[in-house]
Amino acid sequence: MHRETDRDLRDRAKKVLPNGVYGHQSTALLPGAYPQFFSKAKGAYLWDADGNKYLDFMCAYGPNLLGYADERVNKAAIEQLARGDAMTGPSSLMVELAEVMVDMVSHADWAMFCKNGTDATTMAKTIARAQTDRRVILVAAGAYHGSAPWCTPRPAGVIADDRAFVETYEYNNIESLESAVAAAGDDLAAVFAAPFKHDAFTAQALPDPAYAQRARALCDETGAMLIVDDIRAGFRLARDCSWEAIGVRPDLSTWGKSFANGLPISALLGADRARKGAASIYATGSFWFSAVPMAAALETLKILRETDYLEHIVRLGDYLREGLDEAASKAGLPFNQTGPVQMPLFLFDDDPDFRIGFAWSEAMLRRGIYVHPWHNMFFCQAMSEHDMDLTITAAIEAFEDVKHNMQTLEPHPVVAKMVSS
Ligand code: PMP
Repeated sequence: MHRETDRDLRDRAKKVLPNGVYGHQSTALLPGAYPQFFSKAKGAYLWDADGNKYLDFMCAYGPNLLGYADERVNKAAIEQLARGDAMTGPSSLMVELAEVMVDMVSHADWAMFCKNGTDATTMAKTIARAQTDRRVILVAAGAYHGSAPWCTPRPAGVIADDRAFVETYEYNNIESLESAVAAAGDDLAAVFAAPFKHDAFTAQALPDPAYAQRARALCDETGAMLIVDDIRAGFRLARDCSWEAIGVRPDLSTWGKSFANGLPISALLGADRARKGAASIYATGSFWFSAVPMAAALETLKILRETDYLEHIVRLGDYLREGLDEAASKAGLPFNQTGPVQMPLFLFDDDPDFRIGFAWSEAMLRRGIYVHPWHNMFFCQAMSEHDMDLTITAAIEAFEDVKHNMQTLEPHPVVAKMVSS
């Protein structure tokens, strides 16, 4: 695999970008062979800056739901671009999009649009406080809700006041939730919950319906707002809020990533119960009314309603899970797949410093399959059964590679330190 362009870009980046690429794609957090820069994406495939091609199981960390550069969505976006994007006020598309989302998502009576997931979760927190006139926000320990000071996983630059009145409970643990609610007393503004436990570095877990129902009941008893953060899982589990299937309706839900198939837009959906708070806060951004992502969202949502994209990705996910389990057990490796099949996480048991996972992921990458060693992955509509067969074939070889090199594998310096601390 050529890497010259990527290497050159990394050198240049170090001079003009602090630490090179920042955040989740920083070199410090991925296997050494992973490219940092990309040049093209189409369908289920991704090309790095040197032109190497990969079947991409990250889907841009979620935004790619239908396939990269989907022609139907691109057409809608490009036509709107010619008419107007950022204008002095919103276009009619904002009303239309709010109508469609309220129609699709059962708990929602209204919508607000913003750009990133962090905008939506932060706004949800502010609205819950405005609605209830209380302060305490409960979040599950280890859950990711964005990169603002109140929720970022890294402590640098964050002061205690930024986190004041943000308390934690254990996901899926009713007792822990009950005691956090009791400790908040009459100052509880909101309980945040991810649709399933999709924290980085640890096995994923589906929600226990009893926990979700208890969260709803506790919010009803105390008058607090229940917030489902559907930014990562939204529309990959359901054509509705992800907790609709277990019969739990939140007061607020946050959306982002996928519903415009990669164009920049996020949303906060709410029930009438939270409308007064939503109407009272000052919320805006220079690009929050941009019409192009709204046109893309409308087209994406139309496709979600009219096609079997969801059944398709679940079917492929089942097929892959079974194929990989069989390959791993033949190889005698403790490969552990967790989470919904269309949003899987691959870990190895007894791999505390991630050396096996990193080596296997790198071995997959060398075979043209982009998987992630510690973050959940994503399926998209453009993937095919043939893509799954390619992945299983690559995995069989990658398992052999790892077995062969087991004695010489090294822990990843940064990740090993991070997970042990
Ligand atoms: N919540 C969840 C569950 C997420 O997965 C993410 C992004 N990974 C966010 C919030 C923040 O979204 P963004 O990166 O668009 O700000």
